[in-house]
Amino acid sequence: MPVTDPVSMIAALVVIFSVAAVVWLMIAVGLRESPWGCASLAGANGLLALSFLLYDRAFIPPVLPAHAWWPDTLSLAAFGLVRLSVPLIGERPAPWRNTFAVAAGLPLVAALLGLGPEPLSRMALLFGAMGGFAAFAALDAFRLLRWRSLRGSTAFTIALPLLVMAMLVWSRPLVAVLLPAHAANLDVRSPFNVAWLWASVVLALALNGWMAFLLLTKLVLQIRRLTERDPLTDALNRRALSQAMDVEHARQMRGHGYALVLLDMDRFKQLNDTLGHAAGDAALQALVAIASPCLREVDLLGRLGGEEFCALLPHTDIAGATLVAERMRAVLEALPFEWNGQVWSLTASFGVAESSGQDVSAAEVMRRADQALYRAKGQGRNVVQAVERVA
Ligand code: GH3
Ligand code: MG
Ligand code: MG
Repeated sequence: MPVTDPVSMIAALVVIFSVAAVVWLMIAVGLRESPWGCASLAGANGLLALSFLLYDRAFIPPVLPAHAWWPDTLSLAAFGLVRLSVPLIGERPAPWRNTFAVAAGLPLVAALLGLGPEPLSRMALLFGAMGGFAAFAALDAFRLLRWRSLRGSTAFTIALPLLVMAMLVWSRPLVAVLLPAHAANLDVRSPFNVAWLWASVVLALALNGWMAFLLLTKLVLQIRRLTERDPLTDALNRRALSQAMDVEHARQMRGHGYALVLLDMDRFKQLNDTLGHAAGDAALQALVAIASPCLREVDLLGRLGGEEFCALLPHTDIAGATLVAERMRAVLEALPFEWNGQVWSLTASFGVAESSGQDVSAAEVMRRADQALYRAKGQGRNVVQAVERVA
């Protein structure tokens, strides 16, 4: 027998939001993970619990006017916090001022214009803004996930629950306009109210689960970054590049060749000894910043260690890879590296090799690229050397 009593359902929502508020607070304070984002979610859930509680006017403290607009005002503030929590969890700037202006200003405008206590215009104003907050949060979540390089469809799927939430919120004033008979206060038993409350229960659970999922996605992406990237230059680390090379090598069995460009900075020890280790570190970062734009989106650049890097170029033959290496060499040579007013000419030597059907593993291609690099060093450095395909 489904529950159709609005008062019980409102009580259930109060419990759900209260528990969620405590859990988010524990994550914010106990784990200190995205503390501001989790604190705003704790605040949002707390305000929503309070908002549903105040549908029963007996709970409104006697010092406050017993207006029917307390719940909507609190819900608006709660949605403002939901809207802020997405950029906060994503460590992006949050629109504090605009959100605060809307959340505090609109109820004030409604009160000043005498739109209370129950007319449609107040409902349209407040619920319109609430849905707006949810929609902006959905848009922010989508952008954030795209920016963290998730595919468009994945990002959209993850952002969808917030959009559904926005529609649910907007449905209240819309139904009130189109079917005024259903505009009754939420604690009145009506088919629309019961359906709306059921949807709210589901979305309250889904939305909190979804926010937890967003936090988890962020943590997984962070951990992946830590395990795959070199912390100094943000290039792939040796292990990640080696894995990618194994994958590419397996693919070449199906006829897609690849090439490796090995790169070693010239006289790097001298740079360290003259300008200091910090300058050496900055030079490594500069090298990656200069070399990366020379590569395509499918190419990968990894740091093998020290001042040695390797670019993996899928679907590329030796001629194409040599061109890429030559471009990197020329760009690096042309851009002077400046450190504390001193200018240093950064150069590197390059060894290029192409995969062949006879190679048992990518390590063999790498060995040939290394031989080519050795030749480049022998030829006086700042040159590109390539090994022709093994017979
Ligand atoms: P060559 O032209 O023959 O390649 O000479 P080189 O001086 O570049 O080669 P060598 O391998 O002798 O020196 C590499 C130097 O790179 C030694 C080491 O101090 C420095 N190095 C390795 N890793 C780092 C790092 O992370 N930061 C800095 N600043 N220096 C590093
Ligand atoms: Mg070197
Ligand atoms: Mg070296």
